[in-house]
Order: sequence, then structure tokens, then C-alpha cells
Amino acid sequence: MTDAALMQTYGRLPVAFERGEGAWLVDTEGRRYFDALCGIAVCGLGHAHPGVADAVAHQARTLVHTSNLYRIPLQEKLAERLCHAASMDKAFFGNSGAEANEAAIKLARLYGHKRGYKQPTIVVMEGAFHGRTMATLTATGNRKVQAGFEPLLKGFVRAPFGDVEAVRRIAGNQQEVVAILMEPIQGEGGIQMPPGGYLEALRTLCDEHEWLLMLDEVQTGSGRTGRLFAYQHSSILPDVVTVAKGIANGVPIGVCLARGKAADVLGPGNHGSTFGGNPLAAAAALATLDALEDGLYARADSLGTRIRSGLEEALAGSNQVVEIRGRGLMIGIELSAPAPGLVRQALDSGLLLNVTQERVVRLLPPLILTDAEADDLVHRVATLIRALP
Ligand SMILES: *Cc1c(COP(=O)(O)O)cnc(C)c1O
Repeated sequence: MTDAALMQTYGRLPVAFERGEGAWLVDTEGRRYFDALCGIAVCGLGHAHPGVADAVAHQARTLVHTSNLYRIPLQEKLAERLCHAASMDKAFFGNSGAEANEAAIKLARLYGHKRGYKQPTIVVMEGAFHGRTMATLTATGNRKVQAGFEPLLKGFVRAPFGDVEAVRRIAGNQQEVVAILMEPIQGEGGIQMPPGGYLEALRTLCDEHEWLLMLDEVQTGSGRTGRLFAYQHSSILPDVVTVAKGIANGVPIGVCLARGKAADVLGPGNHGSTFGGNPLAAAAALATLDALEDGLYARADSLGTRIRSGLEEALAGSNQVVEIRGRGLMIGIELSAPAPGLVRQALDSGLLLNVTQERVVRLLPPLILTDAEADDLVHRVATLIRALP
């Protein structure tokens, strides 16, 4: 086997997996790995989840795709379930996180044009990640993602994450702001938690200026933080929510949910997707929601607390660790120095994890962990970090 026929867009590790079960993966040599990354917050129910597997197999034998030229009852049912769970009114379906955010960006621009704005502008954050399409990489606050793809799109203005005053200044200076697009907790940015009251303060600003508050919950959604959506830890409701990654446990899907005045902005002919919300993806998402709503996202809360406090204890006094932070099963361990070899050392020890921003160890384990598996994860991670030079 060789990867010579692939565009070299990824720095892949030298391992390939053949099958999985729960939190475990088995490679082509028969070696077992503890998967504390879940395909980057995707397989939250673990691998080969029986409920999702049955739903996908049944749907594959029944009907996979018809296009959005016709009604799709499973998509309608999924839209109702998601809107109900998120306190939103309407859904648009695509196939990825980037597409969900594209839909939100288009929605915000159209909302602006309907108000007579010529250059509708969206406030985005430093350190944000929203995807790799042209609009979403422009919204992303990371030069590495943008470099070489200029010209970037117009219509974005950036503020430091967590800084309400900076957004207030933008409100004073910029005439045609229509929306804020942001992650409730920054994932790729290094599990960055905003200060208390941040979402509430931005909600107030949005209300004062009739901006849309658009939350990218592609990583924080799907129960990962201990609520189905991260904003449900607060008292506010956004106008737009984007969801992808974990909502169909590995079957590609992206959703843009909208509420109130945002719900009816996109109309006939404004947006579309051939695959979006097809019967296969909808069936997988419905089965995933069944499991998440059956007590699993609440479990993410207690598992997260158990793992974070276990790590605090096991790494107490370690001068390699600056901070352990996160919410639910979105956990970051900020190291005092970059650890370029850590992902490989973890792999060699039979553990899959990720390091983002060079020195934040990121754990995104599945929500189905047993307590014993959670404790095993703490032990494995602490051992690796303690062994750093
Ligand atoms: C992963 C991610 C995206 C992009 O999702 P894709 O499915 O890779 O397009 C967007 N926003 C956030 C917060 C993400 O974590």
C-alpha cells in the first residue's frame, strides 16, 4: 500500500485501523488503541455503535439518496428533533462543518442585504476555526489556514476571543455589522474557555444592534460538553447554530439551525446541497440523537469532571503542565513547552490523542466510556506527560 496517489494535504501517522468497538480501535497488525480523539469529536458514541450501525444498515437496504428535489421524511423528522432540542425553528442540511458554517455566513449576508446593507460584515474571533472553504477559512482566525489562498473574502472583522469591549468598539466603528460567528469553546484554538458572562454580554450586544448571534457548535455540540449544545450551559439562545462532527457518529452531515427572524432568511433558490440531509445521513443522525438523549450527554458531564480532576491529581506539582481546562469531554492540557513528539509517543503506547496550538494536549474521548476506562485514560495521559523532558 502507498499513499502516492493522494494529494499530500495531511501529515498522517503511520498507522491504519481495521475495525473499532466502543473506545477501542484495532490496527492492521491487530494492535489495540484507546481512542481518546474519536476521529476529532465525531464518533462520540464510540466505534461500531449498535444503534447507529443498525439504522445505517437498514437505511442502506431501503433507500440511500433521492436528492432535495423531493420531500425526505427522515430529514423532516431530524429537523424537528434538532429544532426541538436546540430551541430553534428551522434547519438546513449540508455534509460537513464547513458547509454548515457556509450556510450561516450566507444567511447572515442575505439578512444584511435585506436590511439594505451593501457590505454586510460578520464579527469573528482570533484563534477561531470554522473550516477550509474560502468563506470559512476567511472566518478562521489562524494565518496558517489562510496563507496562500488570498484574496480572502471581504466582510469579516476580527476581535480577540473573550473580549466583550473589543466587540463593543467594533459596534461603534463599523456600520454594517450583521452577525457574530463564534465557537462557545474554541476547539482547534486550544480548548479556549471564554470568561463567565461572555455569551450573555454578546447576546445583549446583538439585541441592541439587531445582529445575529451565530454559534459554531460543530465541535462543542452533539452532547460533548455535557449538554446537547454548549450554549445550553448558559441562559441565552443564539439566532443560528451550526452542528456537524458528532451528530451522526461518523456519517457525513452538517446542519445550520436558525430561530426567529433568522429562520426565514434563506428562501427558494438561495442555497442547496445535492447530498444534504439524505435518508442515510438522517437515519444515522436520528439514531445518534436517540442515544445522546438517552442520558449520554449528561454522562459526558460527569465523565469530564472525573477525568479533569483525575488529571489534576495525577499531574499535581508537574512543571510540564500550565493548566487543565475544558467542559465535559472536551479537555485541554496546556503544557509549558511545545511537545512535538507527544502524539507519536502516545500512539506507540496505544493511545490516540491530539496536540493543538503546539502545546495543548486535546482529549475528545467518546461519551460511552466506563468509569474504569476514564481512569485508565487519566493514567495513560499522566504517564506520558510525566515522561516529557
Ligand atoms: C471541525 C470544525 C469545523 C469544520 O468541520 P469540517 O466538517 O471539517 O468541515 C468547523 N468549526 C469547528 C468549530 C470545528 O471544530
